[in-house]
Amino acid sequence: MNEEDKNLQIKKIRRGAKNLKSLGIQGVYLKKMDKDKILNLIQEDAGSNNQFNSLEEIKLAVEKCKLCSLHKERNNTVFSRGDDKADIMFIGEGPGRDEDMAGMPFVGRAGQLLDKIVFNEDAMNLSIHDVYICNIVKCRPPNNRKPELNEMEACFNYLVRQISFVSPKIIVCLGATAAEGILGTKDRIMDLRGKFFNKYNAKVIVTYHPAALLRDGSRKKLVWDDMQLVMKEIKK
Ligand code: URA
Ligand code: SF4
Repeated sequence: MNEEDKNLQIKKIRRGAKNLKSLGIQGVYLKKMDKDKILNLIQEDAGSNNQFNSLEEIKLAVEKCKLCSLHKERNNTVFSRGDDKADIMFIGEGPGRDEDMAGMPFVGRAGQLLDKIVFNEDAMNLSIHDVYICNIVKCRPPNNRKPELNEMEACFNYLVRQISFVSPKIIVCLGATAAEGILGTKDRIMDLRGKFFNKYNAKVIVTYHPAALLRDGSRKKLVWDDMQLVMKEIKK
């Protein structure tokens, strides 16, 4: 690579800086880092997890992944459920105990409630081919704690690539962690729900996590209102 190409590539990376997030390198450090070091890291990154040709390849990389400490206590990685070509993508926080055991997202109590909302005839009445269900992090955080920022960042590359392969029309963020990961905001669900945001070439909507509905049934009506917005949007 000649000097001019190098400079161009580094300029691009400094502007984007996101490619390197999966390596735990933040934009601020890039300013100080030696050019060749940056290029080496980019190449390593491209050779590992940045160049996926299919969802199956991402899934295989996740199964082997040790990018954050959540790999230590997992029984299984939890990648997705549903259809790779779905128009609606549901994103939760991370696997719980049941999901970690099954290797499948949203199969525990919260998942059963999500299934009722999505598949029941008197609710959204969708089929498994209409939806793709996944999480911000693919390994279970110990004791179901919220994933930490560094864990979310480490796993984010996989999610972004999942989104780009599935290419959904609508992304439903289930709860505050999903909203934080996708929209980069810590605003409350209360303030985010009920409207669409444009991101990742999709309409993004935030609603309460089904586990929050199990704790407080009064929010069910609000989730239902949000899901009606989704149904209306999908028919457009
Ligand atoms: N909660 C989540 O956020 N994701 C799951 O897969 C299960 C419970
Ligand atoms: Fe890798 Fe994501 Fe699991 Fe962390 S949570 S080890 S980044 S797959």
